Amino acid sequence: MLEICSWDCMADTKSRKGRLVIISGPSGVGKSTICREIIKRLDDVYLSVSVTTRPKSAAEVDGRDYWFVSEEEFQQRIDKGLLLEHAKVFGHSYGTPKEKIVEALEAGKVIILEIDVQGARQVKATFPEAVMMFILPPSAKELAKRMDHRGRDAEDVTEERLNGASAEIAAAWQYYEHMVINEDLQQAVDECVQIIKSKKSQT
Ligand code: 5GP
Repeated sequence: MLEICSWDCMADTKSRKGRLVIISGPSGVGKSTICREIIKRLDDVYLSVSVTTRPKSAAEVDGRDYWFVSEEEFQQRIDKGLLLEHAKVFGHSYGTPKEKIVEALEAGKVIILEIDVQGARQVKATFPEAVMMFILPPSAKELAKRMDHRGRDAEDVTEERLNGASAEIAAAWQYYEHMVINEDLQQAVDECVQIIKSKKSQT
């Protein structure tokens, strides 16, 4: 059983082996699809499964898309120091489990964290050489179309997420080193894969 180590201990593992790759972007931009494609293309690259209090949609699977937990369970994870970062996004809590990350970094793997800008900043503070990529839509109109097409959220939720997108994008220009436009999926995936490969060769 792996021992959960402190922040300092985690930071210590960073320079030695694996690498964290943060992928963020507005809802509906295609982050999850891009992440799945990256994993198909590269060996030793894994996707972290976050914990959330958001209700599960019909298409989602517990343990694959997220670990769906109650507010109490989420708070317990925070209190026990089990989360690498956590944030409130559109009224629900989301967090990255620490244990698997430590394990994977120790094993020299690349771990993708699909998280929002608040979480990304927390991770970057502990792991300064985490690679930060932000996925942009080709236009606001196209993002609205994709969200509508996804059909996962109620109309008011979709609107809230679209409104949040511009603030998220504005913040991203400040903090992210790589901005990738997802106009053509394969091109966006190629770009992400190239960025990860170039960083892998530096470890
Ligand atoms: P969704 O509800 O659409 O799956 O995710 C909403 C937002 O929460 C997205 O921006 C997604 O990247 C972000 N998110 C997902 N998991 C995490 C996490 O573990 N931590 C943080 N900070 N954000 C997350």
